[in-house]
Amino acid sequence: MTDALLAQCRAIAGDAHVLADAQDMAPFLTDWRGRHTGKARAVVMPGTADEVAAIVRACAASRTPIVPQGGRTGLVLGSVPDASGAAVVLSLRRLNRIRAIDPANRSITVEAGCLLHEVQQAAAGAGMLFPLSLAAEGSCTIGGNLATNAGGTAVLRYGNARELCLGLEVVTAQGERWDGLRALRKDNTGYDLRDLFIGAEGTLGVITAAVLKLYPQPKAVLSSLVALESPRQALALLNLLQEAWGAALTGFELMSDFCLQLVATHFPAMPRPFAARFPQYALVELSSSESEEHARALMEEGIGLALTRGVARDAALASSLAQGLALWQLREHIPLAQAADGKNIKHDISLPVSSIPDFIERTDALLLAAFPGCRLVTFGHLGDGNLHYNVAPPDGQDHEAFLANQDAVNRIVYDSVAAFDGSISAEHGIGALKREELARARSPVELGMMRAIKAALDPLGIMNPGKIL
Ligand code: FAD
Repeated sequence: MTDALLAQCRAIAGDAHVLADAQDMAPFLTDWRGRHTGKARAVVMPGTADEVAAIVRACAASRTPIVPQGGRTGLVLGSVPDASGAAVVLSLRRLNRIRAIDPANRSITVEAGCLLHEVQQAAAGAGMLFPLSLAAEGSCTIGGNLATNAGGTAVLRYGNARELCLGLEVVTAQGERWDGLRALRKDNTGYDLRDLFIGAEGTLGVITAAVLKLYPQPKAVLSSLVALESPRQALALLNLLQEAWGAALTGFELMSDFCLQLVATHFPAMPRPFAARFPQYALVELSSSESEEHARALMEEGIGLALTRGVARDAALASSLAQGLALWQLREHIPLAQAADGKNIKHDISLPVSSIPDFIERTDALLLAAFPGCRLVTFGHLGDGNLHYNVAPPDGQDHEAFLANQDAVNRIVYDSVAAFDGSISAEHGIGALKREELARARSPVELGMMRAIKAALDPLGIMNPGKIL
């Protein structure tokens, strides 16, 4: 970093909030999974939106690339810099104020660096629910959630981050502050700029604050683990419960037996809800706005119907909140068990929900033919058509060596996704990891429009270069 830019950043954010020493910067330069470590000229941590704007102006004047960073839990190498050492990492963590809560409008205004968990707690403190929920919620920021249009476990009922956002405050690539913090549910005033910045992964501007939707707290939340024969049976169960429960069905997660075996191997203290093993399981969650009794009656009726109609083989109904949380712990330990098992080839894909059984059947067969014995770690948010479709090496084979097959595995998976009119990224985004795949997956017309938007909003190309496009 030129001395002049460093001095400017220090004058704007304060000496303590500009890191330029390699050791101080290190925690900001490696991605969550530890696959990539970049370099930076400095890590700058402004404390207000005006400071963000001043730093962006200083970077723009010297054509210095900026990598916005929240909690660094992103899974596609979006929030870490490349190896050139040219970029400034702009950490938003100090923008962590809850600015306002308006229970009557069911909205909350928060700064981008608030942790998701802090926003959930602030909403709960006002007797409301902020429903975005994901396993990284103790570390990820609301700015990162919006920049990646995060999904998680409650999309089925409440939608993803985009659908939970009413307004944004953004610092543009020119360092201007756009106040779009409107708490409106209807606002048809020209192009939707808010929706452009959501999911843009920091490539168009810096999100500094947001107005988010709140919901009434449910009176009761109950979960059950349902044992199933196949993904096809899971789809039938999803449809049955959607009809039986309507909007009360707030979560529907699929996991294969192999996923639960991985959890049992690496976390033996985790509960084992069934004595027998079944090919697949669905974790279903029901929320009642009436009462615990109402929730229990609905749960028993819905699961009972599934068992009598042959749409489920067995079910473990949680009889307390603690038991329900333990079932969710099982689900949330799958990625941890995978990590303990060793590296594997991951895909976060989305498909029309109705195609999921055929997709799994066809793609599993193609992969097993090409890589005999490979182990498929398939789980995810079935209710949203979102699968985490991960491929691990055959038992006993070296995980690192298996990664050499990544391109060939990806080709099979992504070609199959295309054949079923799906998407190569359901909720994690594109970042640097899937940039080349995006260029294959989307048409020249679509990519051309994306490039035109990027050129119009960031003509100097300083906002998170090398990500998405
Ligand atoms: P970062 O990783 O810091 O950044 C992500 C991207 O957003 C980068 O491109 C960055 O440049 C940009 N960015 C960050 N802040 C801003 C800002 N203020 N303005 C502009 N751009 C910005 N994701 C899901 O969708 N669903 C899940 O269920 C889910 N589960 C996860 C579980 C685990 C254990 C982990 C580690 C991750 C999971 N993720 C999940 C991925 C990750 O948590 C999300 O992508 C999250 O939204 C990233 O937030 P963050 O603050 O960590 O962002």
